[in-house]
Amino acid sequence: MSVLIFIDQADGHIKKSSYETLGYGSAIATQLGISAEALVFGNVSDDLSELGKYGVSKVHTLADNALNLVDAKVFAQVIADAAIKLNATIVVFSHNQTGKSVAARVAVRLKAGFISGVCALPNTTNGFVVKKTVFSGKAFANVKITTAIKVISLNANSHSITKTERIADVAPIEISIPTPSIKLVKTNKVSGEVSLTEADIVVSGGRGLKGPENWGIIEDLAHSLHAATACSRPVSDSHWRPHHEHVGQTGFQIAPNLYIAIGISGAIQHLAGVNRSKVIVVINKDAEAPFFKAADYGIVGDAFEIVPKLTAAIKELKG
Ligand SMILES: Cc1cc2nc3c(=O)[nH]c(=O)nc-3n(C[C@H](O)[C@H](O)[C@H](O)COP(=O)(O)OP(=O)(O)OC[C@H]3O[C@@H](n4cnc5c(N)ncnc54)[C@H](O)[C@@H]3O)c2cc1C
Repeated sequence: MSVLIFIDQADGHIKKSSYETLGYGSAIATQLGISAEALVFGNVSDDLSELGKYGVSKVHTLADNALNLVDAKVFAQVIADAAIKLNATIVVFSHNQTGKSVAARVAVRLKAGFISGVCALPNTTNGFVVKKTVFSGKAFANVKITTAIKVISLNANSHSITKTERIADVAPIEISIPTPSIKLVKTNKVSGEVSLTEADIVVSGGRGLKGPENWGIIEDLAHSLHAATACSRPVSDSHWRPHHEHVGQTGFQIAPNLYIAIGISGAIQHLAGVNRSKVIVVINKDAEAPFFKAADYGIVGDAFEIVPKLTAAIKELKG
């Protein structure tokens, strides 16, 4: 029996979110006294034996070019076949784009119970009970998975990473790959920007910025912190910023270590996409803005005065 952890990679590098998922899956394995193993697709240039530091004893690789592109049907089939071959009883994903499109399909193939968006280690004293966020992170539910095989996906920023000195065995696994149902024709990549969903720090602007011509202060602050930029929905709806920066209930849901919200009121639909951030800083000229209730730190004042001063102070601090 084992816990099988699916690892995401992009451009040959393991995604940051996967390290947390590895640590989480390994902690479950330790809790149950079984082994933790990882599964990686595509051509990866990182040293995969290093994944042992996050608790896994083995890393299974499937370096087929067909797996460089996420095809949910193909991924689900191959991951389910790998889980059967490796006698995995628990399959763990990150609750990201890949996890959201693949995990449920894997569960169907394995006839497994599936819980998405878990946020804590399971309680295994009486069965297998996982805690998950519900209602856009406003409440928690404890759910028992009763099937022999269990599939779960982990919310970002839910498990603290501890490293060991362990080195994992890395070996290819043989699984036949079904014919893909989609074909990559062309990729247009946004280059030179920090990825919003993977960023440690996000600087976000709202309608309080008045117009797209004022976004320089957001970009300067983001640049000084090596942060990604984001925005509220009305901002992208008005074409002040591109839609791929929109966060919230109907945009990207992110969980950076630091989220700086500037000129954003803190509507519930916005909070739904950012309330899992570890630390939230709000800058708003209205002391009654609802966002202050969700903030760890708040500055009441005019963004056009505060943000340039903050950027200058950060630049000075960093030398
Ligand atoms: C079904 C549905 C889904 C939605 N999904 C999303 C979503 O995914 N994401 C999202 O963001 N919204 C979403 N919305 C919209 C949401 O309800 C809010 O309307 C929106 O978040 C408000 O954006 P805002 O805070 O930028 O603008 P406003 O509500 O207009 O707030 C602007 C803020 O800026 C402050 N401000 C003004 N001037 C300054 C200044 N000089 N310095 C500092 N502060 C200043 C004001 O005090 C105010 O608090 C959704 C709505 C619906 C109905």
